[in-house]
Amino acid sequence: MDLSEEEILKSDARYVTHGIGKIPMVVVEGKGAIIKDIKGNEILDCVSGTSGPVSVGYTHPRVVEAVKKQVEQLSHSLALFANIPRTELAERLASIAPSRLRGNCVTYFSTGGSEANEVALKFAMLTKKKAEAVSVFYSYHGGTLATLSLCGQSWTKLQYPRFPGFYQIPNAYCYRCTFGKEYPGCDFECARYLEYQLKLGSGEKNVAAFILETVQGNGGHMHPPTPEYFKIVREICDKQDVLFIIDEVQTGLGRTGEMWSCDYFKADPDILTCGKTLSGGGSPVAATLIRSDLVPSEVMDNIWHIFSMGGSPLGCACGVAALDILRDEKLPERAAETGRYMTKRLEEMYKEHPLIGEIRGPGLLIGVELVKDRRSKEPGLEEAMSVQMKSFQKGVLFGLSAKPGYGNVIKIKPPLNLTKEQADTALNTLDDALKEVKAV
Ligand code: PMP
Repeated sequence: MDLSEEEILKSDARYVTHGIGKIPMVVVEGKGAIIKDIKGNEILDCVSGTSGPVSVGYTHPRVVEAVKKQVEQLSHSLALFANIPRTELAERLASIAPSRLRGNCVTYFSTGGSEANEVALKFAMLTKKKAEAVSVFYSYHGGTLATLSLCGQSWTKLQYPRFPGFYQIPNAYCYRCTFGKEYPGCDFECARYLEYQLKLGSGEKNVAAFILETVQGNGGHMHPPTPEYFKIVREICDKQDVLFIIDEVQTGLGRTGEMWSCDYFKADPDILTCGKTLSGGGSPVAATLIRSDLVPSEVMDNIWHIFSMGGSPLGCACGVAALDILRDEKLPERAAETGRYMTKRLEEMYKEHPLIGEIRGPGLLIGVELVKDRRSKEPGLEEAMSVQMKSFQKGVLFGLSAKPGYGNVIKIKPPLNLTKEQADTALNTLDDALKEVKAV
């Protein structure tokens, strides 16, 4: 199609629904951290780890090579067969998996994070022979009806029915503690609440799983202050015979500065889900890693679950390439280093900009929470939207936490191989945008 930007946008408006808002820009190319529009304008993409899968950077040559090679040989295979890239990726994931999953997990492959979490739930329910699940406020686990019912953000609850027996408890969000307490004097009341929920708030002994993001990506990068939180919830899950699922769809594969955020927080799940970046920006692939020793043999190949496109040789070949790149280019280490640099610079900016309420890491999973006033902590919703828009007009795309709870966190999640120069460009742009936006 040889069309102008105007014609494409017109056709797009007529024939495509974007599902969740739109930016009037026609993207034609991506290289590293840069995307280019049809007019040749370049944007530094600092969202790619969130709504896009590109932690290794757009069109990484090794991913492109893997796609070409695999497409020429075998792009799709019936799930019932074994295929070589799928077996290789499962083995590789088992060899790098965190905690007790290391060398002791089986993987179910699908194409997206929502599917990976659906599978995690099904395994937990069939294994435990229970039908309920617990998650936390502000969480995001996917867009299918079951995973939406796990979400703890108000927008996910507007028009859809909620699954019966899916409950949310307060999250670890020290900046706005549900219990009005302060760490370290709080004795992790948010973690301990899980036990009350399991004993009193849910169907008696009917909860199969507790699912958690270590860092709540969509919700605005909130996370527990120390690994102690994860130790407490792990103990409660064991005591109450509940499986512990960690959703690493956003946090996994290097973003926190470790291969897994479970490594960073010393968390020990029974099931781990990942997706997005696993494809290296090639063909979609997502994964549910399940502790082998927990799954009864009658459940193993019998969850009556299939995603036709899941575990395709093409997606899995991209996954293997992505893992090679993460290892060879030491991307987790680079994320830690660039993340430290950016967070330090942001802390300097905190002194200049009263709009900044809190800066949260870790690694390249940075959240900058904006408030109208540091004492009242009233969320700076309009301000955050305006900062995001002004930055975009200046050539840098940042993310924004989901509204309405809360849409006031600027999210910075660039490719993990962002250069120092690009990091400075992003932060200088944010600095300029913050200077232009006053609290309203
Ligand atoms: N879990 C988390 C933590 C996510 O951030 C997302 C996507 N934003 C999902 C699950 C769903 O993944 P997908 O959009 O690939 O289905």
